[in-house]
Amino acid sequence: MKEIFEFRVYERYYDLLSKPNKALFNGAVYIIKTTRQDPVFEELRKVDEYVSSNLKGIMFSYTTIKRAYSDQELKDSKLFHFWPIKQFGPTGEQCGTEYDDSVACDICGSGGRQISPLFLAKGKIPQKDISRTFGGEVIVSEKFVRLFKEKKMRGAIFKPVYFNKIISKFHQLIPTSEKLNITSSTVVGRNVFNAMPEYEKRSSLGDNPRQDYVYYKCPLGHLIGGNLISEPYVDDRVNFKDYDIFESIQYYGVRLNLLRPEPLYFCSPEFREMVIDEKLTGFDFQIARVK
Ligand SMILES: [Zn+2]
Repeated sequence: MKEIFEFRVYERYYDLLSKPNKALFNGAVYIIKTTRQDPVFEELRKVDEYVSSNLKGIMFSYTTIKRAYSDQELKDSKLFHFWPIKQFGPTGEQCGTEYDDSVACDICGSGGRQISPLFLAKGKIPQKDISRTFGGEVIVSEKFVRLFKEKKMRGAIFKPVYFNKIISKFHQLIPTSEKLNITSSTVVGRNVFNAMPEYEKRSSLGDNPRQDYVYYKCPLGHLIGGNLISEPYVDDRVNFKDYDIFESIQYYGVRLNLLRPEPLYFCSPEFREMVIDEKLTGFDFQIARVK
């Protein structure tokens, strides 16, 4: 497995890095692709520390981590983590979908239950076979649903998505299999260099009357923190062969305004093969580890 880290360094801090480097300027940020073994990676860590402690600044926006696997690694994997690449709004809640948040955790706000059909806005859903809203609702195409049923895949049901009172051709994906338990081998963080704080005061984060603090990690174990830095690790209490789609017990993300914590999604090798063979769009995958 080879990991490529893609940093987006803000222009004002770029000159703190030694030159030449392989950065590409996209008009807003300098994009630097690197690996852990590359000296640039260590330099980025040091400059990031300097910027945050001495200049009280933020050196880069989000980082993407891409993993390339050998054919053998892919063949040997019994479980994959998948996610919809495109996120869109308005969310279900903004379009009249009802949630019961009285069942959500008082501390972290995760676990609110959707209690109405999913309403979304016409013309706003990406033309992909899978996508998700900023509220974490996962939307799939008719083609996806047809193939899932034809191939006798197990572990999810599909409910219609409505545009006002009209049924759309889109469906909401709802996993029904046993949920997977994410283990402490999974690394999450604010970014690749910095751990995620357990919570932050809400003042800088918008108005959320639910709580004085926004939680990233729940002391009761519901929320695992912000960005996934490693591949996800799960234990093997569920037999992976019994289903083709899974969601995690734990959530990641944050309950803030319209944002809702989301589970991680997993699938069987057969599901991944279907997506590739049938050219279903909007998916990304990585290997999920068992430990
Ligand atoms: Zn909680």
